[in-house]
Amino acid sequence: MAAKNTAGDKNELRGPLGEDYKTLRSRALKIHRRLKKAYPDAHIPLRFSSPLELLIATILSAQCTDAKVNEVTEDLFRKYGSAKDWAKAPLRTLEKEVRPTGFYRNKARAIKESTEDIVERFDGRVPETLEELTSLRGVGRKSANVIIAHAFGGAGIIVDTHFIRLSRRMGLTAELDPVKIERDLMHLLPRKHWSDFSLMMTWHGRATCTARKPSCNGCAVSGECPARDSRGEVKWDVKLPPRKKGRSGK
Ligand code: SF4
Repeated sequence: MAAKNTAGDKNELRGPLGEDYKTLRSRALKIHRRLKKAYPDAHIPLRFSSPLELLIATILSAQCTDAKVNEVTEDLFRKYGSAKDWAKAPLRTLEKEVRPTGFYRNKARAIKESTEDIVERFDGRVPETLEELTSLRGVGRKSANVIIAHAFGGAGIIVDTHFIRLSRRMGLTAELDPVKIERDLMHLLPRKHWSDFSLMMTWHGRATCTARKPSCNGCAVSGECPARDSRGEVKWDVKLPPRKKGRSGK
């Protein structure tokens, strides 16, 4: 099946199944309703009590389980209260403290640089907009949307690996690029659903629509999912960007 690039006017949006915008949107809303019914208690598993704590936990959660992050942050959140506390901490100390979460050098640097930025440019307060959050060193678009959605109660589509896999399997987008997937889903769902839809997609990706073995038989959205018969295998074509030639010319 051909997938049309969905940039520009949302009325030109075509899903991988060739559905027009209205049909696609209606199916997306049905999927939202079904997920909501299946996961009425879905919540963010990271523990935090302020936007700053969520920012730190989000940085630490890359390639790490939420349980491990919560274990590590329990002591750290007692030790460091403000952005200034984090920014002042020696890099080596931070590295040691976040080591159990993996990729500790990058994570320690991201924590230090982002909190330095918060102190210098935002008077010690975590900013609330996507532009400001992504302007912080060490904070990417996904983390920024997590903070907007869960610390500030705003609207954000959070495109993690589960979201990429599921939105493609469900035929809601044909894209592979997280920013394009975010844009497609922003067109399909009302703003008020962006955050909870993202959360439920992650829960569904962990519980049912796993990467290796999706449980299509017991899936709450199987009636609306074109990948159910192929057990999660996505058949539609996606135009991938041309491969850059390396020095070897391969
Ligand atoms: S039907 Fe299968 S592929 Fe589709 S969402 Fe459910 S588990 Fe995933």
